[in-house]
Amino acid sequence: AIRLRDIRKSFGSIEVLKGVSLDIAPQEVVCIIGPSGSGKSTLLKCINLLQPPSSGTIIVNGVELTAPKADVNKARSTVGMVFQHFNLFPHVDILQNVAMALTTVKRMPKREAERIARMQLERLELGALIHKRPADISGGQQQRVAIARALAMEPEVMLFDEATSALDPELVKGVLDVMKELAHSGMTMVVVTHEMGFAREVADRVVFMDDGVIAEQGVAREVLTAPRSPRLQEFLSQVL
Ligand code: ATP
Ligand code: MG
Repeated sequence: AIRLRDIRKSFGSIEVLKGVSLDIAPQEVVCIIGPSGSGKSTLLKCINLLQPPSSGTIIVNGVELTAPKADVNKARSTVGMVFQHFNLFPHVDILQNVAMALTTVKRMPKREAERIARMQLERLELGALIHKRPADISGGQQQRVAIARALAMEPEVMLFDEATSALDPELVKGVLDVMKELAHSGMTMVVVTHEMGFAREVADRVVFMDDGVIAEQGVAREVLTAPRSPRLQEFLSQVL
C-alpha cells in the first residue's frame, strides 16, 4: 500500500505540487490523468524520491521513505519506475541492462543477477534478444526491457510515466498488453497515461490532476464518463 500525505514540491519559488494526499491499496491500479504541467511526472518522481518532495510524507508498505534516516537505495528498489524514454544503457546488452540493476543496487552476485534477469526477460517474451544491444531492438521491445529491469528488483509498486507515448503507434499495444498482464497479476500500479482506453479498461481508480492538486478522482468508468468538474470535462473533451 502507498500512503501520500500532503506532498508539496517547489522548484525555486514555484510550487508545482500543492498538497497531494493519496492512498493506494495493495494490488490497486490507479491511473493519473491531467493537462501538461499539472504535476503528474513530478508526483511520480516524488514517490520514488527521484525528486524528494519539499514536504509531506510517503509511506510504502509501512516504511516511511521520507523519514530523515530512510535508506534511499532501498526506497528506490521497492518502487519500480518506467519512463517515457527507456533510459537503457546503450553499451551493454539487454541481459546486462537488467542484471546491472541487481548487482549495483541490490549488490547481488553477478551469476545470480543474470539468472534473475534472464527469467524476467523470458517472462516478457524477450528471451531471444538478451544478447542484443538496445539500439538493435524496437522501441516497444526496449520499453519491455525497461519494465523487466524494474520488475527484476521485485518492487512493491510500479510507476509508469507515459510509458507508451514515445512509441510508434504499432508498438503501443505490445507494451500496454504487458502492463495489463502485470495489473492482472496483482501488481500495485500508478500509471500516468494519455491512453484513456487503458484507464477505462484496467484502472480501478482514475485521478485527475490539475495545477498541482488532485482535482477529481473516482472509479474509472464514472470519472471518465460522468466528470463533475468543468476542468475535467474540458480535459476529456480534448483527449477523447
Ligand atoms: P506533462 O503532461 O507535459 O508530462 P506533467 O503533468 O508531467 O506534464 P510535470 O513535469 O510534473 O508536469 O511539471 C509540472 C511543473 O513543474 C511544470 O510547470 C514544469 O515546468 C515544472 N518542473 C518540472 N520539473 C522541473 C524542474 N526540474 N525544475 C523546474 N521546474 C520543473
Ligand atoms: Mg509528465
